[in-house]
Amino acid sequence: MNLWADSHCHMADLRVQSCLSGWIDKAESLGIGYFLQGGVGPDDWDRQSELAKQFNDRIGLCFGLHPYWVADHSLSECEEAMDLLASRIDQAQALGETGLDFRPRITKDDESCKEKQISLFEMQLELSKVCHRPLVLHIVQAHDEALKILDLWGLPLQKGFVHSFNGSAQKAEEFLERGLLLSVGGPLVRADNQRLKQAVQIIPLEKLLIETDSPDQPPESFQGQLNPLSTLKEVAEEVARIKKVSTTEVLDISTRNLKQLLNLKEN
Ligand SMILES: [Zn+2]
Repeated sequence: MNLWADSHCHMADLRVQSCLSGWIDKAESLGIGYFLQGGVGPDDWDRQSELAKQFNDRIGLCFGLHPYWVADHSLSECEEAMDLLASRIDQAQALGETGLDFRPRITKDDESCKEKQISLFEMQLELSKVCHRPLVLHIVQAHDEALKILDLWGLPLQKGFVHSFNGSAQKAEEFLERGLLLSVGGPLVRADNQRLKQAVQIIPLEKLLIETDSPDQPPESFQGQLNPLSTLKEVAEEVARIKKVSTTEVLDISTRNLKQLLNLKEN
């Protein structure tokens, strides 16, 4: 059976371990059975690897240093983690999450935190080009800075995608022009998010991915709760409504786009 893919979730998150097998069963009953992870830091990579042993080919490994993790660690700790990442990246399908998150609650309004995030983003871009892995980008309140860095350093041949894209149509164009795909999740399902709905209108289906970012970013139906993997269906339904195609078509195309990006066989 050809199972659909969630392009981005965090099954190694410590908050979800007790409910995970129930979530996977529920998602599978809806036809969703491949889950590309978002990497956070070394401990998370270890937990992803453990999960992959348990759930084998249903889990796509993604190792990287998340801007949150970078913000919470010293530069020397980050550099040490970079060495570890370089030594382990060949075990993963994708490199990420990497990028920039300049929200004041992450940077604590500290310029040096922004500089540290920039350095680690540049180091991971450089690594992506020698390890031949597509990038999973996390970019929040730093679109212009991220684009500048991407242009300066260049992207790997495999390119990658911006996860949980939540910007305008114009910002979407700027990422598409650089060959990146855009992945949308729970925020698209919010009734008041007209800006993102308009952006989705202009993103070709061949450049679009869908994700849950589980357990974060729940759609309205799970507001205030952990976001289960089954909400991928709601994201697909909203994309289908905007693009005037069927939900199945959205799930099929997003799964195909992801598998092509990761160079996985389609079955
Ligand atoms: Zn994530």
